[in-house]
Amino acid sequence: MKNVISILVVSLFILSCSTVPITGRKRINVVSDAQILPASFEQYAGFLKEHKISTNKKMTSEVQTVGMKISRAVDKFMRANDMISEANSYRWEFNLIDDETVNAWCMPGGKVVFYSGILPICDNTDGIAAVMGHEVAHAFAKHGQERMTSAYGQQLGGIAVAIGTDNKDPRTRQLWNTIYGIGSTVGMLAYSRTHETEADKLGMVFMIMAGYNPEEAINVWIRMSERAGGKSPPEFLSTHPSNQTRINNLRDYLPTAVAHAKKYSAQ
Ligand SMILES: [Zn+2]
Repeated sequence: MKNVISILVVSLFILSCSTVPITGRKRINVVSDAQILPASFEQYAGFLKEHKISTNKKMTSEVQTVGMKISRAVDKFMRANDMISEANSYRWEFNLIDDETVNAWCMPGGKVVFYSGILPICDNTDGIAAVMGHEVAHAFAKHGQERMTSAYGQQLGGIAVAIGTDNKDPRTRQLWNTIYGIGSTVGMLAYSRTHETEADKLGMVFMIMAGYNPEEAINVWIRMSERAGGKSPPEFLSTHPSNQTRINNLRDYLPTAVAHAKKYSAQ
C-alpha cells in the first residue's frame, strides 16, 4: 500500500512538472487553471468590495492603460507559444485602490491591484510599467500556484482551502492573503527569491514588448531602496534578493530582455 502511494505521489509530481516559458526554469505545480481561476476571480471581487477604489481618475486611467498594453503583449506571447488555453481563460483587470501601503499584486488569471502608496516609487508611466510587468509576470509564470503546491506539502489540504470559492471563509482568505502579500506592509516581497528574480526578468521583457523604457525598472528599485533607507526588512533578508542585488541583476539582464522582446514581438 505504501508503495502504491509512493508511486502515485511520484507520478503526480512527474505529471505536474513543467517549464516556465522564456526563463526555462523547471517547476512543479499541481494546481490547474480550471481549479484556481474561479477561486481567484471570487477572491478578487471580494477584495475590491471591501477596499476603497481610488477616485483619482487620472492615475486610475494611467494604471489601467499600462495594464492593458502589457497584458496585450503577454496575450500575444501566449497565443504564439502554446499557451492558448491560458490566453483564453485569463481575465485581465487592473484597479487602483486608496491605500498608502507600498504594494501591488496580481492574482491568478490576471487580476491586478495597485495601491496608491506605490505610485510615488513608480514616479512615472515607465515606472508603473515596471511594477505592472513584474506583477503580471507572477501570474504569467503561475508563481501563486507553485506556492499553493508547496503549501500542499506543508499543510495538508492547503490547496483545497485555497481553491474554495467562499471568500467569506477566514481560512481561505488568510491563505490567499499570505500567498499574494495582501495586507502585508512588505507586500511587494510576498514571493521567494527565485520567484522575485524571475518576475523581475519576465516583467522587463513584457514592458519592452509593450513599448516602455526598461531602464525605469532599475530606477524603481533604486527609489525603493532609498525609501527603505538602504535597508530591506530584516525578516526577508535571507529569502529575498536585496534591493542592490535586484538592481545589479536587472542591469545585467537588460540586453537579454531587449533581445527576447525583439524576438517575441516579431512572432
Ligand atoms: Zn514580486
